[in-house]
Amino acid sequence: MSSELHKILKKEELTKDDLVSLISAGNEENEIIFNHAGRVRELHLGKKVHLRGLIEFSNICSKNCFYCGIRCANKNVPRYEATEKEIVGAAKHAQDNGFGSVALQSGERSDKKFIKKIDRVLQRIKQQSGGKMGITLSAGEQTEDVYRMWFESGAHRYLLRIEMSDPGLYKKFHPGDNLHDFNKRTECLSMLRKTGYQTGSGMLIGLPFQTPEHLARDLLFLKENDIDMAGMGPYIEHPETPLYKYREVLLSKKERFYLGIKMVAALRILMKDINIAATTAMQTLHPEGQQKALIAGANIVMPNITPAKYRENYFLYEGKSGVHFNLEEVKSVTEERIRSAGFEPGYNEWGDSLRFEKRKNRQRC
Ligand code: SF4
Repeated sequence: MSSELHKILKKEELTKDDLVSLISAGNEENEIIFNHAGRVRELHLGKKVHLRGLIEFSNICSKNCFYCGIRCANKNVPRYEATEKEIVGAAKHAQDNGFGSVALQSGERSDKKFIKKIDRVLQRIKQQSGGKMGITLSAGEQTEDVYRMWFESGAHRYLLRIEMSDPGLYKKFHPGDNLHDFNKRTECLSMLRKTGYQTGSGMLIGLPFQTPEHLARDLLFLKENDIDMAGMGPYIEHPETPLYKYREVLLSKKERFYLGIKMVAALRILMKDINIAATTAMQTLHPEGQQKALIAGANIVMPNITPAKYRENYFLYEGKSGVHFNLEEVKSVTEERIRSAGFEPGYNEWGDSLRFEKRKNRQRC
């Protein structure tokens, strides 16, 4: 191990330059970083991996992000919206299979019909599980009143990915209108915290024009915003997006994958007590993607339990993993991945963010 890496891994607080060094490390140093991050994870969070049954309940989105396959301008994707019954039924499946939580995810909409529907679904899931099912929601930017209403109806975690924390890159990869405003997104993260949610965010890794400095600042953004959970994934291009024209300047998929794993490891070293997901995008780029992310410090997996007839159309990027498993296979494949990485599934538990718990306890004192 180089003496510089040795020094960084011994530090209590990491600077931007330290993070750049971790992110830019060569192959021979990667294993050392991943193993170190794995030890940090085990010391602070133990061996359990908690499950969030992922229900991608609608791919209808009012936004037009330049990197996303379900952006509203893509007319070639069949749009769907699962019924309340289907969503609540999928949550029951999660409950029956010991997944302590579900994650409800959709494109972003702010119409009343959508807001009310989510509210009813939250109440029904809570009711059918006797309050036992943990719920993460990921439905984009909303008003503070809406966030509060959903919180009171049962959602207690909310994931709002910033995708890129550099305002310049944000502008480059989103339309320049009020609907795609960087400041509004960061304000939403503050509102979520204020409302009482365990608040999650995350980034795309390996975008065109993104540098190790951008990525280091992304990690510091998560720390400065005191986030409780993170979902980060390698950027995978989609042919029907404006960003596809830059595919020639991208890192190879293998390089993007390892960059993603390094980001997980660096974030674990930076924020020892948060929840970090081993995301589907990692599995898409490598047959053992989720196992490798777990070994490098992730502690959450989100098996896809979206009703099968919709799953193929939540088509954010090319080649998405896991869309063809039936619901029985989803559980066995997930368990096998967790155990083969040396961990154990935390069935029937919420697996809340330790950082959030600590903050709550401090506020009580
Ligand atoms: S990234 Fe999210 S908000 Fe943007 S177009 Fe895709 S689903 Fe909609």
